[in-house]
Amino acid sequence: MQSYDRLLIGGKWDAPATPSVLQVISPLTEEVIAQIPDCSTRDIDRAVAVARASQDHGPWPHMPVAERIGILRKLAAGLRAHELDFARTQSEEVGSPYSLISAIQAEVAAALLDYYLDLGSTYPFEEVRPGLFSKALVLREPVGVVGAIVPWNYPLSLSFFKLAPALLAGCSVILKPDSATPLHSYILGEILQEIGLPQGVMSILPAGREASEHLVTHPDVDKIAFTGSTAVGKRVAALCGQTLKHVSCELGGKSAAILLDDVALDQIITPLIYRALPNNGQTCIAQTRLLVPQTRYAEITEALVERVRTLRVGNPLDPHTEIGPLVTQRQRDRVDGYIASGLAEGAKIAVGGKHPPAMTKGWFVEPTVFVDVNSSMRIAQEEIFGPVLVVLPYADEEEAIALANDSAYGLSGSVWTADQARGIALARRIQTGTIGINNAGLDPAAPFGGWKQSGIGRELGREGLEEYFELKSILLPPERPPAFAAEERAVPGL
Ligand code: NAD
Repeated sequence: MQSYDRLLIGGKWDAPATPSVLQVISPLTEEVIAQIPDCSTRDIDRAVAVARASQDHGPWPHMPVAERIGILRKLAAGLRAHELDFARTQSEEVGSPYSLISAIQAEVAAALLDYYLDLGSTYPFEEVRPGLFSKALVLREPVGVVGAIVPWNYPLSLSFFKLAPALLAGCSVILKPDSATPLHSYILGEILQEIGLPQGVMSILPAGREASEHLVTHPDVDKIAFTGSTAVGKRVAALCGQTLKHVSCELGGKSAAILLDDVALDQIITPLIYRALPNNGQTCIAQTRLLVPQTRYAEITEALVERVRTLRVGNPLDPHTEIGPLVTQRQRDRVDGYIASGLAEGAKIAVGGKHPPAMTKGWFVEPTVFVDVNSSMRIAQEEIFGPVLVVLPYADEEEAIALANDSAYGLSGSVWTADQARGIALARRIQTGTIGINNAGLDPAAPFGGWKQSGIGRELGREGLEEYFELKSILLPPERPPAFAAEERAVPGL
């Protein structure tokens, strides 16, 4: 068992304020694999104090951008050097299939840094604008101390959705991973110590709910960048609203994959299933509502079910495994609850629905496909966050669009078709932040975020950097007197 007795506070490993500890439990063996300090509000206070000092007195926010970029390039190299350590750790603590996670954890985090550091070398942090009355020097200054709160499902890469733009912008960051999956953050802490970041710029505190809310409400924190469930996002946004603190929220989803009637099944089934069930279905952009033309319903459903039946369930560290265990017992209970609710509401299970009999330990659920689903059922409306898909038939494209938009969420989506132009025309009518044609996912250059209850604000792209600025306009001396200057205006007749 690994035992950690330090927290990264302002870039240094430091003893926690209290001796209390938390256990990390393996989703595969259900045994304790590590213990970490149980972060308290006093630890949050210490991290915020050093971040505040870094923000107000430098050097990080004030150094030339090129210097910050130089330091952050070392961070990207450090992530790549530890790529396999991160992958193994995430398989162990989250249950993510190694085959998936070894390709997309550290590499995505490093690629996000590459993208933002390239952008930063040409981005106009300052510009002079010709105004109506005077020129204005427009400054994009760091928003300040950032609390970055991330969930357990892709803990490293999701951290860099925030860290890459925030650090480039010149912010100091308190990163708050989920306390159930903190182990990757100890590898990250080691790298952060080695790259020459000034004191105070980075802290990592895997806090629980009480200490997390303390971070959210702390008066010396200027912005909260949150990724997690819609329920907690609403609470975080409401707390930030009390002091008008900057807040961005990346929240849940229930994304529709619309299969058009011209789709070539042999070409799309495998890529579609991978985008529907990544990370054991625990992915915000998973394409979990499959909308299928009535005219091809039987044929498409059969192909989906056959492919899902062949998914290999097992130990996440086995490179052949496609579906591992869910992250916690609580998460499996939640997924079991949705399966029971689907059956109670009249949907039918075409494949899966149980705990795999071969796995005697671990929080596994068989990959599951529900048919005979209608859009009002809870399994069609609510985010299940497990390996459970629902298939809904549609009569024509208008009904497909209506079904896709019949959701409180609007995070992702996809259209599967042999005709790209037809796919784009349909995608224009879907209420969502990102949608793919024979594709689903994201790209560092494309703004990513939610419509409706999937979030507020954007990550990735230029827009993701701009979330970490305060704007300041310095008006330069007027070149001519303002036309409205009172002393120059005589009222006629007086
Ligand atoms: P969660 O909302 O329970 O927790 C997310 C984070 O918030 C964790 O670090 C948690 O410790 C912290 N937290 C919990 N209560 C808090 C509070 N009161 N104040 C401050 N922080 C608090 O979500 P989860 O179950 O860990 O993650 C799954 C959810 O995240 C899903 O809904 C998924 O769709 C969403 N998600 C969204 C995106 C996106 O980019 N839109 C990406 C990944 C996951």
